[in-house]
Amino acid sequence: VSGPGRENIVDEIKSRCNIVDVIGRVVSLKRAGSNYKGLCPFHNEKTPSFVVSDTKQIFSCFGCNISGDVIGFVQKYYNLEFPAAVEKLAEEYGIEIQNMYQKSPKKEELYEINRQAAKFFYQAFTKSPNPALSYMNKRGVDPLFLKKFGIGYADDEWDSLCKHFQKLGTDIKLLLSLGLISESKGKYYDKFRNRVIFPIINTSGKVIGFGGRTLGDGAPKYLNSAESDIFLKKNNLYGLNLTKQDISKEDSAILVEGYMDVISLYQSGIRNVSASLGTALTENQVRLLKRYTRNIILSYDSDEAGASAALRGGEILHKEGCRTKVLQVPSAKDPDEFIKENGKNDFLKLVGEAPPYLDFKLNRMKKNYDITSTEGKVDFIREAVVLLRTLSPVEAEAYIKRISRDTKISESAITLEYNGNNTKKVQLIGKLGGDEHISEKASEKISGLEKNFLKMALTERVYFDKITFYEHAFTSKAGFEIWNEIKTNYEAGKTLDITCLPDALDTETSMALQDILDNVHFAGKEDQIFLECVDTMEMDEMLQKERELILKLSMADEVASKESITELTKALMEVQKGLQRKKR
Ligand SMILES: [Zn+2]
Repeated sequence: VSGPGRENIVDEIKSRCNIVDVIGRVVSLKRAGSNYKGLCPFHNEKTPSFVVSDTKQIFSCFGCNISGDVIGFVQKYYNLEFPAAVEKLAEEYGIEIQNMYQKSPKKEELYEINRQAAKFFYQAFTKSPNPALSYMNKRGVDPLFLKKFGIGYADDEWDSLCKHFQKLGTDIKLLLSLGLISESKGKYYDKFRNRVIFPIINTSGKVIGFGGRTLGDGAPKYLNSAESDIFLKKNNLYGLNLTKQDISKEDSAILVEGYMDVISLYQSGIRNVSASLGTALTENQVRLLKRYTRNIILSYDSDEAGASAALRGGEILHKEGCRTKVLQVPSAKDPDEFIKENGKNDFLKLVGEAPPYLDFKLNRMKKNYDITSTEGKVDFIREAVVLLRTLSPVEAEAYIKRISRDTKISESAITLEYNGNNTKKVQLIGKLGGDEHISEKASEKISGLEKNFLKMALTERVYFDKITFYEHAFTSKAGFEIWNEIKTNYEAGKTLDITCLPDALDTETSMALQDILDNVHFAGKEDQIFLECVDTMEMDEMLQKERELILKLSMADEVASKESITELTKALMEVQKGLQRKKR
């Protein structure tokens, strides 16, 4: 990695690969204030002096004085040269280096064009009265905050911005690629017309795109810049450039839907706020936010669309390990409207009362069922336990208690459902044939080998005695029970009375017994068949042993000592020799 592309790639890597994630994969980190602490991987120590900063995206060891950024860590830890470290991170985080090589020289140029455009819109907004200014005044935004957010105005002409860039001599292709202008029948025209302009600025302070709200009846109501080399909606959040410090300081972020929500909350003094860019919340947006806090309050519009957006967003936040709450503004369309009517304190009260995401989700789930009926209760619980299984046992128990209260179904019954009682498995001795899950239907799973052994044991005491050495062959429920019954009879010194056996067995098992008695025949070849059975068993056991040893060896590289690897290898060779002998 060299040449003009290098800086951009490094920027991209740093903005996409969170150092806490990267180091956390190889060093166990614990939160300590706003930082993370762990045992230094570069020197021997018993008390942690290795610190990782989420906000600064650097690591530093006070024991051996090593420090650096995410790329530096990967270089040192994996002993890689700079380009290899960059490639490793790019690959793990799905960042395409190739594209960036080609396009990166242009990036600075593109940022500069957007900066010029933002300046142009801002000047149009401030130099004389215009519809955008009166609109924003009507929405109650103070001049100080209009400036802070760089609000602009795109006028009603078709070519104001085009002309402006023509004067500057800007390459038309670049303007097209940024979606600032469009082309139709050889003519160029401004993309944003008669709109309030909200510049979208990334956390490095670069203008990456624009949102525009129509001032007339023009559709769409909100228009965003097209995606470009420097603007990917899924990687960015609105307002974060201004609010990241507040989010970090408060250790929480309020996520809203719209530009106006961000500006309203900010103006009211609630500054730990940000908005996704007219898309459903994405993993990358969450990862970006996680640099500053893991405590997220989703505050979307109070309509049905907002609620289902909160449901989806909460899911992603939950997966990414954030502590999420869902705030729904009562009797208002959105947070902007609410805070204008009720003020900061009422909104903060809502923040304090916002239920955890899981409560919100369970409540929504419950609404889909009629839990006054038994059937509805059962269906609701079935769906709910799937959700509970994603929780820690302690959390799950708390929710089981609550669901029990809501449905009047006992906690123990819900716990049974949670534990998956519908897949009862009877564990028995042995693993022959690799199937240790015994079927409930006794007759089905009883193996040919078991049938042979049972029939022999039923026929003559001498076989019974021999088979006692191989009784781990009985791995099916029915086989095991029949064998036990035969054993009880012989061990009591009684001679075996086959006609009495079924009395001690359940219906299904005695049917399996009858099947063996009727259908397994040896035609005088008992001895030969017995030897073959034993042979098959030994073979299966060796194959099983071989599988285990290969598995152990494949994991040994990372964990075991040289000696134990040698031991395992020897054992494997022995087993394989034995198998060869048998196959001959
Ligand atoms: Zn160290």
